[in-house]
Amino acid sequence: MNFETRCVHTGVDKDKAFNSCTTPIYTSSTFSWDTLTTNKGFDYTRSGNPTRRALEENLASLEGGIDCRATCTGMAAITTSMYLFKPGDHIIAGHDIYGGTYRLFANVLTEQGLQFSFVNMQDMANIKAAIRPNTKGIWIETPSNPLLNIIDIAAITSIAKAANLLTIADNTFLSPYLQRPFELGVDVVVHSTTKYLNGHSDVVGGCVITRTKEHADRISYITNALGLACSPFDAWLVLRGVKTLGPRMEAHQKGAMAVARFLAAHPKVEHVYYPGLETHPQHALAKKQQKGFGAMLSFDVKGGRPEAERVMENLQVFQLAESLGGVESLVEYPETMSHASMSLEARRAAGISERTIRVSIGIEHPDDLVAGLKHALTFA
Ligand SMILES: *Cc1c(COP(=O)(O)O)cnc(C)c1O
Repeated sequence: MNFETRCVHTGVDKDKAFNSCTTPIYTSSTFSWDTLTTNKGFDYTRSGNPTRRALEENLASLEGGIDCRATCTGMAAITTSMYLFKPGDHIIAGHDIYGGTYRLFANVLTEQGLQFSFVNMQDMANIKAAIRPNTKGIWIETPSNPLLNIIDIAAITSIAKAANLLTIADNTFLSPYLQRPFELGVDVVVHSTTKYLNGHSDVVGGCVITRTKEHADRISYITNALGLACSPFDAWLVLRGVKTLGPRMEAHQKGAMAVARFLAAHPKVEHVYYPGLETHPQHALAKKQQKGFGAMLSFDVKGGRPEAERVMENLQVFQLAESLGGVESLVEYPETMSHASMSLEARRAAGISERTIRVSIGIEHPDDLVAGLKHALTFA
């Protein structure tokens, strides 16, 4: 079956009791056994739940994996995946990864004995140079946040294969509709389902998707042992959201392209960061490894912080809020919001200035989004 059809049906219509067309929410924490050794496949909701299982089957299918575990947040999914490593292992990650992931790696997991190198992954030489005798994995996140740098997934997995390293990709920014890391050789895929997979800004969640039995068994064991699975109600919300993933992503992208082109031509805008623009340095790579350019973009306003502030204070349609991937368009200021936990030097080194504004394009009509920004930019 095709992708859009699997979004709607995989895992969903399995209720044998009443033939319900959508998945029931099984809130039960426990399930009774038929005999001392047999049950109907579920015994306790931390370990497994029919509603959560429906979501997991759906997401595994969309990424092209063999199994999935749905977790209570994206960070819980990332935490779970890092248990594929052991104390003493060294992992290479990008220098511009999601802030929460950087915090987990640099401040928490290093205390548990893992070692990290954060390098600019646009240059494969940096990755090769970072490999040590105890290197066991490479963390992949593309496009990057907030500047939409693209890294070459296939080139990284070929380095990883040669050095026998595990690759884990955070595919949150594009969703499996636009990018499928398994097809480019990645071993494990994680998501914050909070973003495009749920798509309606009304739940936080995550998932870990695997493609070998060995990794599937380990991830299943760890999610249960750590107790990081999501609630049946949250699973149901994400399953409901994911049914419209394809049409939503198309609408998101259409708006993003219109906004990117408008901003690129605007006299008060200095630079637009969007892989869909021919001027983006990795436009060709994005075209090759993605099935579309996504709906995240950033731009630098001419001037400085006062100009950026006036734009954000005078927005129409857009709301000033963190997060992304929902049907409503959001604008946020990396300097004081999403990237405030980075040091000033680290922000500047990553190319984030006080003129930088990040935008998550929703599914509103592109004309209204352009009008909203046009209005705001008259104050810049
Ligand atoms: C939001 C996000 C996360 C963290 O997910 P939560 O659901 O907020 O825990 C991880 N990676 C990326 C790329 C994200 O955008």
